[in-house]
Amino acid sequence: MRIVFIASEMVPFAKTGGLADVLGALPHEIAALGHEVKLILPRYRGMDLQNFPMKKAMENFEVSLGAEREKVSVKSHLLAANGSNVEVFFVEHPAFFEREGIYGTSLGDFQDNDRRFIFFSKAAIEILKRMDEEPDVIHCHDWQTGLIPAYLKLMHQRQGLFEKARTFFTIHNLAYQGNFPPDTLALTGFGWEEFTLHRLEYYGKLSFMKAGLVYADILTTVSSTYAHEIQTHEFGCGMEGILRDRSSDLYGILNGIDTKEWDPETDKALAANYTSTSLAKKLINKGMLQKETHLKVDPEIPLLGMVTRLVDQKGLDLVIMVLDELAKRNMQFIIIGTGDSKYHSAFQSLGRKHHGRFSFNLKFDEKLSRRIYAGSDFFLMPSVFEPCGLGQMIALRYGALPIVRDVGGLTDTVTDYHENHGKGNGFVFEDKTPNALLAKIDEAVTVFRDKKLWMDLQKNAMKCDFSWKASAKHYVELYLRAKRRTVLR
Ligand code: ADP
Repeated sequence: MRIVFIASEMVPFAKTGGLADVLGALPHEIAALGHEVKLILPRYRGMDLQNFPMKKAMENFEVSLGAEREKVSVKSHLLAANGSNVEVFFVEHPAFFEREGIYGTSLGDFQDNDRRFIFFSKAAIEILKRMDEEPDVIHCHDWQTGLIPAYLKLMHQRQGLFEKARTFFTIHNLAYQGNFPPDTLALTGFGWEEFTLHRLEYYGKLSFMKAGLVYADILTTVSSTYAHEIQTHEFGCGMEGILRDRSSDLYGILNGIDTKEWDPETDKALAANYTSTSLAKKLINKGMLQKETHLKVDPEIPLLGMVTRLVDQKGLDLVIMVLDELAKRNMQFIIIGTGDSKYHSAFQSLGRKHHGRFSFNLKFDEKLSRRIYAGSDFFLMPSVFEPCGLGQMIALRYGALPIVRDVGGLTDTVTDYHENHGKGNGFVFEDKTPNALLAKIDEAVTVFRDKKLWMDLQKNAMKCDFSWKASAKHYVELYLRAKRRTVLR
């Protein structure tokens, strides 16, 4: 099959979160299964493209944005990784994409994100038109590309273009919906007939996410628990109605991690490489991490780590509520993250209060994140909701035992030690309360104190297979099934 992915982030070019990791790994896995895979991405400022020679891929062309016309130029690079090739097309538009930040700055989202991603969506479709052969599958990701299935269905497929192609829309996080004022409709080129409850309108706004949910042939999301959760009022972010309507086309496929990229045996950022049979070396990483982050160097002090965007979703309010208690218990805690300024200031002042026990690292730094996964005893993800979550999978691979809330992809990947009579791979709590979190941390520390039990548990964790292989096969099966289906929406 010919499969084209369209997304706003991809490792190694641009990353704000898990979306980029998925786009960095899944296309290669699918290519490795024998399919031709291409990917379309904006070209942002700050992309380090020195090691990725570009060629001019298509003649310059224009797309309309309301009454205006915008120039597009397209470069490409054939990206080789894990034994397969993916051709990446970069959409260039300096005014839209060569900025500090991908979606905004610490002050908030860019005011013209509607223009930027309408432009990107239209440019992507023009690229599809210029490809030698029509794709079998056009796979879009998150709200930034949500309009694409709508354009294809309402404008292009009706004219006989891309008739063979099936459109897929993957929800990586339903909370980010790309909702804009009704005026944005004029920029899209759609008529007011689209601005209704059953189409693109969402509580008086134009929703890019909803466009994907309504018009894609197949919907997927990134874990099976989240696929169920988003059809409920609690997790549906107002989209539960349309998701329930489309439940027969909605599939949950668990994300994986790139197990070559994330491997404590070869990770160059670590002070000492280790495997499940050389766990003593993990302690060298713990000591170095404690030193680097100005915590007391002591292997016996339980060390909790977090690598996260600093947003409400991640359960940081609970973390803030338990930090004093953790300090009283002589535990250490390291967070690395960027995000909402309210969390910046809260953690900065807690960092001053608990100097030597709590280390707050306000930055995006992959190398330090790797040292946190390797050096921590526990990895904390008390999320309010979590579509899939990659942090806990990376932590498991690095032998840092996850302490997670029982939601979404965390439910699907972490099994509680006690509830599974010692056979689990981490610690799972349910209630969104500081007491429930503290009780689970205390339970985890009790196991940590028993060296033999602890090492068995670490080994169990490091054995878990979260590679992309199974999930990539699952996507391919779904592509084939969609191709065979003749009656689609
Ligand atoms: P989300 O996609 O909601 O941000 P995930 O757990 O799915 O959460 O993925 C987060 C990814 O981003 C992981 O690879 C994590 O290591 C990485 N990450 C998040 N914040 C930082 C940071 N400040 N520095 C380095 N890596 C980070």
